[in-house]
Amino acid sequence: MISLEDAREFVLDRISSLSAVEVPIAEADAMVLADAVVATEQVPPFANTAMDGFAVRSADTTDVPVVLDMVGTVAAGSTFEGTLEAGQAIRIMTGAPMPAGADAVVMVERTVLAADEQSVEIEITVPVGNHVRGAGEDVQPGDVLFPAATLLTPGHLGVLASVGVRAVEVIRRPRVGVISTGDELVDDDRPLMPGEIRDSNRHTLLALVAASGCEAVDLGIAVDDPDLIRRAFLDGAETCDAILSSGGVSMGAFDYVKVVLDEIGDMRWMQVAIKPAKPFAFGLIGDVPVFGLPGNPVSSMVSFELFARPSLEIMAGQPRSPLPIVAAIADDSLSHSADGKTHFLRVMGRVEADGRWHVSRAGGQGSHQLTAMARADALAVSADGAVIEPGDEVGILVLG
Ligand code: AMP
Ligand code: MG
Repeated sequence: MISLEDAREFVLDRISSLSAVEVPIAEADAMVLADAVVATEQVPPFANTAMDGFAVRSADTTDVPVVLDMVGTVAAGSTFEGTLEAGQAIRIMTGAPMPAGADAVVMVERTVLAADEQSVEIEITVPVGNHVRGAGEDVQPGDVLFPAATLLTPGHLGVLASVGVRAVEVIRRPRVGVISTGDELVDDDRPLMPGEIRDSNRHTLLALVAASGCEAVDLGIAVDDPDLIRRAFLDGAETCDAILSSGGVSMGAFDYVKVVLDEIGDMRWMQVAIKPAKPFAFGLIGDVPVFGLPGNPVSSMVSFELFARPSLEIMAGQPRSPLPIVAAIADDSLSHSADGKTHFLRVMGRVEADGRWHVSRAGGQGSHQLTAMARADALAVSADGAVIEPGDEVGILVLG
């Protein structure tokens, strides 16, 4: 058996970032910048008011209360033509440009507008710049807004839009093909014949791929026939950036997947010291990474989390990072007797009132018992022979 750390290192050492493309910002969420973005516009583009109120000259508010002549109104999106003179006020709405001559804003709550709207009483003294948002206070032309390798989030997209950037250079979204292997698999609603089961892995894996920000490509079921398996994998290698297959990586006598992949790819077959998901294969067909995930449904999902997800993140331009394991409190016993493996137990849990994750077993822990995995919020990491009793701390890998 190979340790999980060694297996991950073997895989991640062979993964690299894809090439860059230009995409409209509307499509760039969760993608990674290939180049730094430099601002060519300032934000805010002009001095404007942060409050609804009255634009005034600060010097007019030294002795209050004071009554000023109302000479106009300016709303967001319009401008005041002319200059505010001493003794005058202009009604102004949040976001509207500061009129020439005005240097402060008095919030509407500290004013009394005359019934004829010809004058306004100002109740407080305000300093120069009061409630004024200066031009360029957030962004200056020439500012490096975001460096290369920034993972774009909704906030980033808003900033890009605010400076007039319509498209960005980002790392391409990986196209990831998903193949199921096995003679027993059925993917329609007909009654099962003896020995048949329904293909669940492909549906799970396609959704996991899509949820991790990649383009999921359904490559179908390759039945246990060498020619069909070869064609499915070669098709995938031609049209995709990576392939995930499930099944056929264990010791089964009819697993042609192994034979075919060894013929068309450069594969390493592993027995990883973990439970579930011990059998795992990784290799390259040409330069396309192939992840041979185990067939058992829970195992294929766990294997995806440990090997495929971090690889797809690197392909999409994200940095290589350790497994994001966080501390939780075990509400159940998560102990297991020594068998040479680290166990990834399916647990339900959430952040409780004490501000910490609390987890308990999500149900049957067999690698075929997908319901517990579906219910699980996290995988609890139970080291070989670990004693983890209720109230003890345990590391968990939170599932998306
Ligand atoms: P294998 O790795 O091909 O030996 O398969 C291990 C177990 O997983 C067997 O019980 C298979 O029937 C099951 N299995 C393989 N592929 C799938 C799949 N796509 N959906 C559900 N179960 C599967
Ligand atoms: Mg099989």
